[in-house]
Amino acid sequence: MTELVCKIPGMKKLVSRSLLFAAIAGTFACTPSGNSPADESAAAAVNSLRLYVLDGGDLVSNPASYQLAEDEVQTSMLSIAAYLVVHPRGILLYDTFGVADDERQPGGTGTQQTIVRSDKQERFITLAAPLREQLAAAGYTPADITHLALSHYHWDHSANANVFAHATWLVRPDERAEMFGTPGGSARPATYSELIDGPTVLIDSDDYDVFGDGSVVLKAARGHSPGHQVLYLDLERTGGVVLSGDLYHYPEERSLNRLPISEFDKTQTVASRQAVEEFLELNNAALWIGHDLLAHRRLKKSPDYYD
Ligand SMILES: [Zn+2]
Repeated sequence: MTELVCKIPGMKKLVSRSLLFAAIAGTFACTPSGNSPADESAAAAVNSLRLYVLDGGDLVSNPASYQLAEDEVQTSMLSIAAYLVVHPRGILLYDTFGVADDERQPGGTGTQQTIVRSDKQERFITLAAPLREQLAAAGYTPADITHLALSHYHWDHSANANVFAHATWLVRPDERAEMFGTPGGSARPATYSELIDGPTVLIDSDDYDVFGDGSVVLKAARGHSPGHQVLYLDLERTGGVVLSGDLYHYPEERSLNRLPISEFDKTQTVASRQAVEEFLELNNAALWIGHDLLAHRRLKKSPDYYD
C-alpha cells in the first residue's frame, strides 16, 4: 500500500495511515511517499538499487554487557555503521553514526573521540571520516537524502540525525513517543531533536515497503528499544541482506545465544531474533551485524557499493 506524506498546517509534521481518511477528505495535502519532486535529482541517476556501507568508527565496548566473557569474543571492540540506500525512487539513510560531524574533536581520522551519553557514561570511538565526507565520496550531499530511518534512537545510531531533518523520517510510533518522552540513558536527545518538526511517516505495520517495489523493507524487530527496526534489501547481484541494527551487537550473541543485559524488553528481543532468523532462512538472505567489527571491516565501503 502506498504511504502518504501529509503536511499538516501548523504542525509541519506528518502522520500515519490513520489520518489517511482525513487526507482524502481534503484536510491535509498529501503526496505518495517516494515520488515527491525532491526524489528526482540524485536518485534518478541510478536505475537499480545500490547499498553503500559507511564506517562510523571503532567503539570500545565491554562484552560483559552482553553476557559474554572476554575469551568468548573474537574482539571486544565493536564497529559503528550507517548505510546509504540509493533507489531510483529515493535515497534512504539508515542510521547516522555515534559522533556528529560538527562535534568531532581535533585530530581527524584515527583520533579517539569521547562521547558522553545522557546517563553521563563516557564512550570512546576511533572515528573514520565524517559522515558528510563518506556521503560525498559516493556522490551525495545531505540534501540528496529523501528518507531517514534509524534502527533505533540510541546515541551510536542518531548522532547526525538533525542533519537529515528535511528528509522523510520513517519511525514507529512507540519509538518516537519514547524519544520525545522519556528516552533511556543511552540516548543523546539533542542529536535528534529537530526530527520532531520534520516530515514523518509513523509506521503502523510490522513491514514497511519504503519505495513500493519490495526491494527496501523496514521490518519491526522490537525489544532493544520499543520500535527497533531492521532493514531488508533485495539486491540484484548481492542477493538479500538484512541490516541488523542492534538485534545483535557481537556475532557471538547470535552463535552462543546471549542477550544484552539491559534491553527495553528481552521477551520481545527473543521473539524478534527468532522472526528475523526465520525470515533470513526463508529468503536465503544474509544478516549484516552493524556492530560486528570484523565482519564490518571486510565489507566494501563508500564509494564502492553493493548492487
Ligand atoms: Zn548500537
